[in-house]
Amino acid sequence: MEALTITQDQIYFSEFENPIWPLLAQVSRPSRYGGCEVRPGLRGLAPGDITVCLAFPDVYEIGMSYYGFQVLSPFLNSLPGVAADRAYCPWPDMERLMAEKSIPLASIERSMPLAEFDVLGFTLQHELSYTNVLTMLSLSQIPLAADERGDAHPIVTAGGPGAFVPGPMSKFIDLFCVGEGEETFSEMLETLRETRGMKRGPRLAACAKIRGVYSPAFTPKGARVERRFAASFDGSYTPSSMIIPSVSTVHDRAAVEVFRGCTRGCRFCQAGMTSRPVRERSPESVIDSVREIVRSTGWEEVGLLSLASCDYSGIERVVEALTPALLKEGVTLGLPSLRMDGFSVGLAARLRKVRRGGLTFAPEAGTQRLRDVINKGIDEASIAACLNDAFSMGWERVKLYFMMGLPTETEDDLRGIVDLARSALKTARQNGKKRASVAVSVAGFVPKAHTPFQWERQSGIDELKEKGRFLKSLAGTSKALTLAYHEPEQTFLEGVLARGDERLSGVIEKAWRLGARFDAWTETFDLPRWKEAFDALGVDPASYTRERGEDEPLPWECVDAGVSREFLLSERAASRAARTTPDCRAGCLGCGVNCGKGGLIK
Ligand code: SF4
Repeated sequence: MEALTITQDQIYFSEFENPIWPLLAQVSRPSRYGGCEVRPGLRGLAPGDITVCLAFPDVYEIGMSYYGFQVLSPFLNSLPGVAADRAYCPWPDMERLMAEKSIPLASIERSMPLAEFDVLGFTLQHELSYTNVLTMLSLSQIPLAADERGDAHPIVTAGGPGAFVPGPMSKFIDLFCVGEGEETFSEMLETLRETRGMKRGPRLAACAKIRGVYSPAFTPKGARVERRFAASFDGSYTPSSMIIPSVSTVHDRAAVEVFRGCTRGCRFCQAGMTSRPVRERSPESVIDSVREIVRSTGWEEVGLLSLASCDYSGIERVVEALTPALLKEGVTLGLPSLRMDGFSVGLAARLRKVRRGGLTFAPEAGTQRLRDVINKGIDEASIAACLNDAFSMGWERVKLYFMMGLPTETEDDLRGIVDLARSALKTARQNGKKRASVAVSVAGFVPKAHTPFQWERQSGIDELKEKGRFLKSLAGTSKALTLAYHEPEQTFLEGVLARGDERLSGVIEKAWRLGARFDAWTETFDLPRWKEAFDALGVDPASYTRERGEDEPLPWECVDAGVSREFLLSERAASRAARTTPDCRAGCLGCGVNCGKGGLIK
């Protein structure tokens, strides 16, 4: 493989001076603001260009691990007359200094204030990042409320999973892009170019007519906005390189997307329901991309991205073609999501000569009955075989992800979590791994919109705490078996926002004004602030986590995610009977997406 060469003109310590640089000595982690990256050169702005700033509502090192902007940024810059930069949310210490000194938030590439862009493109990857959107707007000196913005302000757009439930952020966002961003975004930018010079209202109204765009102000009440997705993957835009940060990021590796969508049908999984059907890239194209990305970035690991990479039909071909050369160069291929079967573990073993790191699996539930309720699609024999393979092939550490508070869960299901972990340890010992360890991580279940569980009740904070304590007491304390559970308070707030409506916009703003920031971070999350905000607005948060009636209108039904209400209801009924549903790649189940391709598009 050709060696990596980076020339001086590819390394950017931005040539545009950023006014926050004099503050760097006064804040934590100053490197996250430096803007030093290896990336394609910038072209100068031309009159008539549409300028876009892709805005990630979390810190730089989290945002740089988000693959979506690694695709969208070069894609937008490849469009004629479009220039795209990026921006991330400053940590509260930097935010305070910037607010004190009235320094506006600026983009990474051109150090251009966000208020000067034509379009801001937020990504709403999870609900607990919503207050950070407000921080970024406020620091940019852009009115928080969409209806207070004038013609000179940027059009504020948002995409990602949050766009499937637009209610909570509807006060702040002008346009939501529902589904895969490339096509919708380019049509929207074209419309904004054509309507340049017009008043803001007619411009937004014109964009609201684009398929996949939801405008809280201009989409007619009762209308449903259809999710957009690319019909096939091989024709869609693929970046030939990546932006390389100079600081360590959460996922410090290159990435190549191998397919989009998932048809396994796990009933709790929003991504699995809202990204159908599966669209694969050809193995040849994946192989070329991996070679090119290794050559152009120098990363020592390349992740093959998808919702379940072991399901990729071309995986054998890709691994066979690439592994010998990559291993010789000390580069590993990574499979970020392993299924619990022998095939997946065997594959992971072929990808790593040294098996020092751990393997991570997600059985999600502790008993077969509950795994059938959630349609996890794995049985006890596969789990046992998979763990045996992992330890016999040399791994000594296994991490297991579960959920608590799942529909129909009983005490036996919780006991099953610890039993499964103990049986994993036993298997390790039987394989001679005396120093083996099993780490169990348990998250509270959050019913998500557009899934068969969208009508289910969510466990309250006290219930989840009790379940967590019960699990910890069963697991005991030892180095070999550790068990941790997620903060129930954060799970509760996530659940409220995940099935929220427009009334929550006021609560989000109030909580932000009371100081709510980085709610996904345990060190900054503060539930009392949120409680004060709910009280001030007279909103009962528990009304959002209750069971919903099947004939009740749901606030997110302004979005048509593709999968029909009838299909979701039939899946809910199947869950109550612990009846499993097969992957539709074995035969169409009529989910409503009407892909006409048997669930898999190659
Ligand atoms: S329409 Fe049929 S084949 Fe296509 S995703 Fe839905 S169930 Fe699967």
